[in-house]
Amino acid sequence: MHMTEHSELTDRMAPWRTELRNEIGAKARTAIPRAKMPQLDAAYRVGTLTEEVNQGLSSGQAVLEATRCLDCPTPTCMEGCPVSIEIPSFIKNIQRGRADLASDVLRMTSALPAVCGRVCPQERQCESRCIYHKMGKEPVAIGYLERFAADMERALEKMGLRGATERGERGNGIRVAVAGSGPAGLSFAGEMARRGFEVDVFEALHEIGGVLKYGIPEFRLPNEIVDAELANLRKAGVRFHTNTVIGKTLSYDELLNEGFRGIFVASGAGLPRFMGVPGENLCGIMSSNEYLTRINLMGAGRAGYATPVAKGHRVAVIGGGNTAMDSVRTALRMGAERAMIVYRRSEAEMPARVEEVHHAKEEGVEFLTLCNPVEYLGDEKGRVRAMRVQRMELGEPDASGRRRPVAIAGAVDEIEIDEVIVSVGVSPNPLIPDTIDGLDVTERGTIAVNAGLRSSIHTIFAGGDIVRGGATVILAMGDGRKAAASMAEQLLNTEK
Ligand SMILES: Cc1cc2nc3c(=O)[nH]c(=O)nc-3n(C[C@H](O)[C@H](O)[C@H](O)COP(=O)(O)OP(=O)(O)OC[C@H]3O[C@@H](n4cnc5c(N)ncnc54)[C@H](O)[C@@H]3O)c2cc1C
Repeated sequence: MHMTEHSELTDRMAPWRTELRNEIGAKARTAIPRAKMPQLDAAYRVGTLTEEVNQGLSSGQAVLEATRCLDCPTPTCMEGCPVSIEIPSFIKNIQRGRADLASDVLRMTSALPAVCGRVCPQERQCESRCIYHKMGKEPVAIGYLERFAADMERALEKMGLRGATERGERGNGIRVAVAGSGPAGLSFAGEMARRGFEVDVFEALHEIGGVLKYGIPEFRLPNEIVDAELANLRKAGVRFHTNTVIGKTLSYDELLNEGFRGIFVASGAGLPRFMGVPGENLCGIMSSNEYLTRINLMGAGRAGYATPVAKGHRVAVIGGGNTAMDSVRTALRMGAERAMIVYRRSEAEMPARVEEVHHAKEEGVEFLTLCNPVEYLGDEKGRVRAMRVQRMELGEPDASGRRRPVAIAGAVDEIEIDEVIVSVGVSPNPLIPDTIDGLDVTERGTIAVNAGLRSSIHTIFAGGDIVRGGATVILAMGDGRKAAASMAEQLLNTEK
């Protein structure tokens, strides 16, 4: 959809939105309680790796929840959205029973609404700015509604009641390449195809989707959702090549020789960090990246797959982010009797989405907060058997604004465990920067870019985690769109 269509759509909505606003008074709207997400029972869901925990709002729930939205003249929720989705517009379309138009509004700024509706940290973004907070009430469930509209779009497409969502402009014959198929690469690819470019996406792994496939488990984001978005991109003309490592199987020079005029590097931050504590090399200790990839992408632990994975009975996951929550909840589903989060700050400082922490607790995960592993102890076979954890307390705020954890002298406990999953952050993959002469990187190893996401080499643009370090899906997607706009402008101007 183009910007002109964008404002036309918004203009066309104005009269009925006023009508809706007048129809049900603000007092009645604010009296409606926030919708509760239907979810699988905790005791049942820990037995399944693939069934999604959240089941999605029913149509009735969605319309009622949409009715809560006050359609504020200056919608502060939009300020909290990194890609400025027209939140009141899509919500009001749901209220009037037009989920199809709601998804059109979402698609104006978001390439993957069904994904974002499931994994965005809404409580820290759009929902944190909802006017309801000022009234001491729960915010409108914007994330649930985004998911509802996107799921309805897919359902209508399946029934043949709606055409493919991506429609490309007439081809301009200019070839562009994408390195990496996570949310940044996919959103760039969709945007460039729509603008008429010929797009080839090269992915190192054997599956397309980046973290959406190899990191986030299916009980939170089913593969079917990602596959539906990929099908749309294929329909729009995007070509995908798996098992192709840019910088190894195909070099930057070879891409140029094949006629690619621009390259978008979206290779993510997939290099796991470790803590460097004694014993970290013992058997049974691995990164969350390895653990989740083996299970999500390579079927480890499932019938018919050859990839092995260690199955711990007492599993400690070190860290407090989304990756840590995904790992610990996966460990439970893989049969762990005791699964623990070990985090050096308090729960208030945890970077994970609040919903994931809540779900983990419901499922029986133990939270050892203000605890930091200082040593792992092994048995005679070199397998981890216990960890020593230092108890911490919170001191003054550090550079991140969070209170710094400080060790309590002499407070060290020993805890029996037989598997450790280290989830303390990731670094950018150095392969592409290392193999391209003249490509500037920052001291953190991320690719240095200007405001238009162009690197020190004029044909190369970059975005997502390879530029930001570990960030979020929506930010990666926003980068893809932004880089597409800059690259398109550059290529079309040089064509003239
Ligand atoms: C387990 C986990 C859970 C998360 N949960 C959430 C969440 O709930 N909400 C949220 O917003 N964010 C979450 N995140 C973060 C989010 O997924 C990332 O910020 C986002 O995926 C970054 O997108 P990207 O496209 O930059 O990179 P990625 O998704 O990492 O994709 C990069 C792709 O590039 C490929 N690649 C790397 N090098 C090369 C090469 N040389 N040639 C070709 N291909 C290459 C990789 O194989 C990968 O497929 C989570 C991350 C993890 C790991």
